[in-house]
Amino acid sequence: MASAGEKTPAPSSGGASRRVLMFPLPFQGHINPMMQLADVLHSRGFGITVFHAAFNAPDPAGRPAGYRFVPVGVPADEDLLPTGSDADFAGALLRINERLQAPFQDSLREVLEEEERAAACLVVDSNLRGMQVVAERLGVPTLVLRTGGAACLVAYMAFPALCDKGILPPQDQSQLDMALDDLQPLLLRDLVFSTTTPHETMSTCLERIVESARHSSGLILNTFNDLEDAELRKVTNGTSVPVYAIGPLHKISAGAQSSLLAQDRTCLDWLDKQEAGSVLYVSFGSLASMDQEELVETAWGLANSRVPFLWVIRPNLVQCSEKVGLPDGFEEATRGRGMVVSWAPQQEVLGHHAVGGFWTHNGWNSTLESICEGVPMICRPCFADQMINARYVQEVWKTGFELEGKLERDKIEIGVTKLLSQAEGEKMRQRARDLKNKAALCIKKGGTSQTTIDLLVNSIMSF
Ligand code: UDP
Repeated sequence: MASAGEKTPAPSSGGASRRVLMFPLPFQGHINPMMQLADVLHSRGFGITVFHAAFNAPDPAGRPAGYRFVPVGVPADEDLLPTGSDADFAGALLRINERLQAPFQDSLREVLEEEERAAACLVVDSNLRGMQVVAERLGVPTLVLRTGGAACLVAYMAFPALCDKGILPPQDQSQLDMALDDLQPLLLRDLVFSTTTPHETMSTCLERIVESARHSSGLILNTFNDLEDAELRKVTNGTSVPVYAIGPLHKISAGAQSSLLAQDRTCLDWLDKQEAGSVLYVSFGSLASMDQEELVETAWGLANSRVPFLWVIRPNLVQCSEKVGLPDGFEEATRGRGMVVSWAPQQEVLGHHAVGGFWTHNGWNSTLESICEGVPMICRPCFADQMINARYVQEVWKTGFELEGKLERDKIEIGVTKLLSQAEGEKMRQRARDLKNKAALCIKKGGTSQTTIDLLVNSIMSF
């Protein structure tokens, strides 16, 4: 087991004679925590078999002996690979389940026959209820990894009741700011997870996620007790299965990173030259998008704020455009104090002493990574759980604030100044540092996440 404050060391005793099967959802924000969990379990002696879709496949390079990767062959049809904030992700998730189920059944059967070390269980992403059903059919116990926060799952569990009461879907815009008493501090707008997915599709998708948790032998969450204590208790009550809060996984795992895009590490050299706490890091994750007008407003907002910035513009950040058009004059206006990369080593960037703030879309990984480095946030959530995460950042942890409404350069400039240069931002930074310390404690020997990993390992051994 890891000693105080250290990342998990080389394989040790525990699961020596067993294998754990894993199946991540084929998206960056889901692959990362699943591979980090794989690494944690591998360090406890388990062999690891990773089933994965043939598209967005995790890279086996850099993994030690004891890992096996099994592609489950389905072509990367466009309707399985949504990109952009207004894509129908829930629909794609249902299709992924449908199309992967039969080939997975064949693959799982083969693997169970072939492998010498007996499979203890399948750890499956909570969005892959279809794969869980296959495992159940073949007699393999399942654990479910929920890659989002506990608060989000609590909201998903409450979704059907809100539909029954006629509160969801909202009938008109005026209802969006309605407070949800049982889900404080969430507003109704935070549960409108997509603007394009039909309500029925969304309901089915969320129902399957909750079902996967309830049908599992245990639910693993990439969060920690001190961050989401009350929400974790609600998850335990609402699922009636053992709940393992073992995050932040990226701080516990010491394995190879699992980025699907090449990370531009030159930005770390650039950060080395900046003053401590001065840089705003701007990134909207792997799927969220903006239109060309928003890109231009963002560019001028950053330029006019006069702070140093590191901005991730990944190839499909701007909808309907492979080629990103930064406005004329932007480069000259920001020369020497701005850097644009197409993908960054985000965890290292957030941990760099030069970074003083993070403008984020609030995917759960980004939110957690920011919390763990004590970096306050400007929140610009787009879809899915991002609005819930942003609400918690603003109202519960108070380590950031949302940039609301239409994206405009003046608004951005005011927000950036508030975060990096004003007393209010400094208070958020202080609270972020407190949370960072709590995160560090929970992964030390005897900390809640480390002791919960022990419980998880014991549970896997008992299957
Ligand atoms: N990430 C990265 N480089 C970047 C931007 C993001 O490595 O330039 C990683 C980030 O550290 C996180 C993941 O991609 O682990 C994104 O996950 P998140 O849940 O934040 O958002 P999603 O992409 O799922 O919307």
